[in-house]
Amino acid sequence: MNMRIGFGWDSHAFKPGVPLIIGGLAIDHPEGLAGHSDGDVLLHAITDALLGAVSAGDIGSFFPPGDPRWKNADSSIFLNLAIEEIQNAGYRIVNIDTTLILAAPKIGPLAGDLRERVAELLDIKPSAVGIKAKTPEGLGLDHVAQAHAVVLLEQVEDPSELRSMTAVIESHKQLEDVVKDLVSQVHGSPARKRTFDTEDIT
Ligand code: MG
Repeated sequence: MNMRIGFGWDSHAFKPGVPLIIGGLAIDHPEGLAGHSDGDVLLHAITDALLGAVSAGDIGSFFPPGDPRWKNADSSIFLNLAIEEIQNAGYRIVNIDTTLILAAPKIGPLAGDLRERVAELLDIKPSAVGIKAKTPEGLGLDHVAQAHAVVLLEQVEDPSELRSMTAVIESHKQLEDVVKDLVSQVHGSPARKRTFDTEDIT
């Protein structure tokens, strides 16, 4: 069986006055994560892991920092683009595993909800999603949230399965339109696709 592995990492600083969004979940906390988008450090790491698994670049090559379209953007838009990329390459997700590193809030009590939400966004079973958390002990990074993600993909043998996967995505019509537009822009401009010298503030 043809399989691929992908790895992603991201970090965002905490900032007062913005909502905390991790894994597509709004979490009650005095501070959120700073970023041009909603700062969802976990979805950004997963997005990079998916893109990396099919050698499709990284989040910054699709969503250039500072682009006004992504101001406060819902990071599930980025994730949907990555899902589209792995489908276009003929793959589907076997499982993902993640580690969050942050001083607060405590992730343990939220891990079940996070797993359900991430599984829903990826259209896979919660049993295929790992959510783990550590504190940044000894790193002096209590004001920062970091996320690591690995994904395993397998090649889809039956093309009809890919079509049914695409149908799920198409139910999110608005996101689908955005993703298709982006994919065509990026693939239509090879020079832009390979621009990796961007500062990732998504
Ligand atoms: Mg980010």
